[in-house]
Amino acid sequence: MVVIICPKAASILQHAIIPVQKYCASAGTMLYIYKGFMQLQKFSFNALKEFLEQQKEPVFRHKQLQQALFKEPHLTFHELTTLPLPLREKLISAFGDNLLPLRLLSIQKDTQASKYLFELQDKERIESVYMQFQEGLRSLCVSTQVGCACQCAFCATGKIGIQRNLTIEEILGQALYLSKTVTPIDRITLMGMGEALLNPHIFEAIHHFTATDEFQLSPYKLSISTVGIIPGIRKLTQLYPQVTLTFSLHFPNQTLREQWMPMAQHYRLEDIFEALDERVKLTHRKIYLAYMVMDGINNRRQDLEALESIFEARGPLRHLYHVNLIPFHPISHLKIQETHKSVVLRFQKQLKQRRIVATVRQSFGKSIQAACGQLSAEYPMHL
Ligand code: SF4
Repeated sequence: MVVIICPKAASILQHAIIPVQKYCASAGTMLYIYKGFMQLQKFSFNALKEFLEQQKEPVFRHKQLQQALFKEPHLTFHELTTLPLPLREKLISAFGDNLLPLRLLSIQKDTQASKYLFELQDKERIESVYMQFQEGLRSLCVSTQVGCACQCAFCATGKIGIQRNLTIEEILGQALYLSKTVTPIDRITLMGMGEALLNPHIFEAIHHFTATDEFQLSPYKLSISTVGIIPGIRKLTQLYPQVTLTFSLHFPNQTLREQWMPMAQHYRLEDIFEALDERVKLTHRKIYLAYMVMDGINNRRQDLEALESIFEARGPLRHLYHVNLIPFHPISHLKIQETHKSVVLRFQKQLKQRRIVATVRQSFGKSIQAACGQLSAEYPMHL
């Protein structure tokens, strides 16, 4: 389809990211020929690089774009005035005007945490949680999947089910949005919606987070949590031994764990700890064991004994395992009361008596449903 339209309409369409070609007609009049709706290219770091190569742009243009993406506050191509106008127009025609593949829908705030709800290009939604610690540390908890396949019974994300993996750019995009519009980020935790080690893009995302000419975060300031995806743990050990690893243990007994965390049927506790021990031996770095305390469910005498056996089995490596206790936060589909802090402190004391080092993790964002296990991005829950 070819439609001839006036210049004003053409300019509007250009901003609406519809490809328009200019043709010179008689006596200096410009006619604009609209070539019909074309599919925009999917935005990715690689597609951007290939596009510049196809356009035979000099290599430094890629560096300029990388700089704009990772180090400058711009959110759109048309703001990148360091690039020549014709190139900006071509980029907008190819990819649309947004530099990031997500847009902000809402922000909810409480005292120390803010929850960001983002919409992706295919209208799926994800959440990220920004936390400001008293020491001034600024941390962002990033999502890695839309929903989650693991279906842990105590988690709102698990109740959505898995919709899809996030792309590298969508994972990075959450942190870039915050660093461009709010504040630089000191620490990233890959602990939002989804099981990070089930997303095959996660390793390349870590590369972009830590590359010096990109997000430039020290790998020591990057944390990842897993329910125990053994191949992912081994790959992380191989590629990124410096990244901090948290294993979401929650239930120290295999049978109970399988009841609450269905993924445990595929990865047994003893096999997971074998992979964790390999990592500890290689890195000499601590592994954190996340333990969401649910009163009367996983803080009983037998749970203490099971935890003690796990620590004893670690032998000389036991001092490199550290338990992080998290109070259970209520979620709509689970009729379990919030765990009182005194219950968590009592459990911590009982662990200490068994020579198990445990700290109580600060809980942020409970009032805005932003704490551990509460992220749902407003999806309906499948009960
Ligand atoms: S706790 Fe983590 S792994 Fe389990 S369902 Fe929730 S997001 Fe997925």
